[in-house]
Amino acid sequence: MIYFDNNATTPVYKEVADIIYEYMTKKFANPNSIHKLGIIANDELFNSREKISKLLKTNNNEIYFTSGATESINTALKGIAYANKNYGKHILSTEAEHSATINTLNNLKQNGYEIEYLKIDKYGAVIIEDLKNKIREDTILVTLLAANNEIGTLNSIEEISKIIKEKNKNTYFHVDCVQVVGKIDFDLKKYNCDLASFSAHKFHGPKGVGILYKKEKTRIFPLIHGGSQERGIRGGTQNLSGIVGTSIAIKKSFENLKEIDKIEKMRNYIAEELKKIDADIITPLNNSVPNTLAVTFDNIRSDIIINALSEKNIYVSTSAACSSKGASGSRVMKSLGYSEKKSKEIIRISLSYLNTYEEAEIFVKIIKNIKNSLKFTN
Ligand code: PLP
Repeated sequence: MIYFDNNATTPVYKEVADIIYEYMTKKFANPNSIHKLGIIANDELFNSREKISKLLKTNNNEIYFTSGATESINTALKGIAYANKNYGKHILSTEAEHSATINTLNNLKQNGYEIEYLKIDKYGAVIIEDLKNKIREDTILVTLLAANNEIGTLNSIEEISKIIKEKNKNTYFHVDCVQVVGKIDFDLKKYNCDLASFSAHKFHGPKGVGILYKKEKTRIFPLIHGGSQERGIRGGTQNLSGIVGTSIAIKKSFENLKEIDKIEKMRNYIAEELKKIDADIITPLNNSVPNTLAVTFDNIRSDIIINALSEKNIYVSTSAACSSKGASGSRVMKSLGYSEKKSKEIIRISLSYLNTYEEAEIFVKIIKNIKNSLKFTN
């Protein structure tokens, strides 16, 4: 098998899977129980929060555990919106965001908030001048991707953050950091955002664990009411085994950054080879996460290539995994100005540390054969 769909999800590191198993079967106590086992479990929860907060250069009381980035994003966006409705209802974002953001914003719109989308360039990066012009006195929130999950494009988060705070110091800034962990050497301190969302399964951790970073003084309304877990921001017994696994996965992913050049070389090699068979390279190779390559082949629908590759046990994707099952093309591609037809031609190749150069060579050889054998036009 060649697995090149790591922006959709990643295989769990072996040592992470081992420790999750150990916690599920032996150290399974509820961290909120007051008996000895509960106290030990609570210490483990504390340690995991501490490890993660150190890596992210935050304080441990700024880290909250959720069920995934979708929940973190919902908590951040709705939490800020509801806590600040008396100050304003204006929210800025872009149409190239992940569905977790777009559909949360759609929901806020139905509840009376004014959602405005910023202009983006043909790769999905925010046009800074437009951001400057659109921030108002009643803008309560700006929410943006650090890296686009389909194209890989990076936003200049540090610069954007400065502009937001210069224009309106009361505007909160949320960053969807899901696609940057283990891919770029980002720094939450330099991002200077108020909130950020992460998902463990995107960095070789388990599915069902998310992280929400929230600056200590940032006030949000809780989304999930229940017990007083997560300091009242997120009720419900914590997924301790998953959280312990996540703390190891994130550490390994930060360490593995030293190998990122190898991944970038592989990605650029694939891009060069695909150009030889007339692929259009959609990803800006000089301003993107180094593991991601989005390409199109004129007049060949992506599902045809993806299915043919899948027959050979090679896995890439059409666009975001959560939206690629629909018959319509990529929403993100359309937001970048591509036609409906072109939006159905996107193929996303996303690599990880576990991939090898040899796999890249096999992939190139097989996709070339597939392309040559195709006579379809749409
Ligand atoms: N944001 C981005 C950029 C993503 O790529 C994803 C996952 O596809 C999400 C949010 C949602 O993450 P989760 O699957 O943890 O809910």
